[in-house]
Amino acid sequence: MTQSMELSASQQRAPSAVVLLSGGQDSTTCLYWAKRHFEKVYALTFDYGQRHRIELDAARTVAQMAGVAHHLILRVCELEQLGGSALLSDIPIQETGGRGNLPNTFVPGRNLLFLVLAAAWAYQLECHHLVGGMCQTDYSGYPDCRRATIDALEQAIRLGMEWDITIHTPLMFLTKAESVKLAIEVGALEALAYSHTCYEGRFPPCGQCPACRLRARGFEEAGIEDPLIVRARSTISSPQS
Ligand code: ZN
Repeated sequence: MTQSMELSASQQRAPSAVVLLSGGQDSTTCLYWAKRHFEKVYALTFDYGQRHRIELDAARTVAQMAGVAHHLILRVCELEQLGGSALLSDIPIQETGGRGNLPNTFVPGRNLLFLVLAAAWAYQLECHHLVGGMCQTDYSGYPDCRRATIDALEQAIRLGMEWDITIHTPLMFLTKAESVKLAIEVGALEALAYSHTCYEGRFPPCGQCPACRLRARGFEEAGIEDPLIVRARSTISSPQS
């Protein structure tokens, strides 16, 4: 069903891909997935005025651990200037009650903008593949994470850039537990210890926010301990680190 599944490790690997790397669990898994499927992997991280800078540090660490060919941190417009989202300001996080009953962590246009910018970089790199961690299963209901949105955007990019771009979304139809299993399969587990998920921007993670709870549920259902939690525990027991 998904284009992303058409690539298998036994097939010849495509030359290159640009991976959207936020530093979170899903994009970290996607980075390692891409390493299995592409000869050369570029990572792209956006600095868009997000509330927590810890995400950018996580992206740097994960890219280094994965040994990516080139990691670009692209400074884009400060999306907070367009209006409030709990990820951009100090508004308390609410899981429902936004427009269309979306969580107030939704940043309208963010993924659309990021994918277009990633495609622009891919164009310059003469690369035909983008990889993103969008997921429409078991997620917050963000409309820009749905495959229908991605398909439409892929078409728009192909038309607007006259460049053949395929957007791979290997996690699109996986549950959080299945994503954890994929992370193990592609060797991302060690790097997941350095990924960042918590909406409150905390390390050790707060454990209470929707992002922390969703992550915890995925690991619990997959039956393994989250390496981030293991790392947090060892940091607490040896405070000098
Ligand atoms: Zn949290």
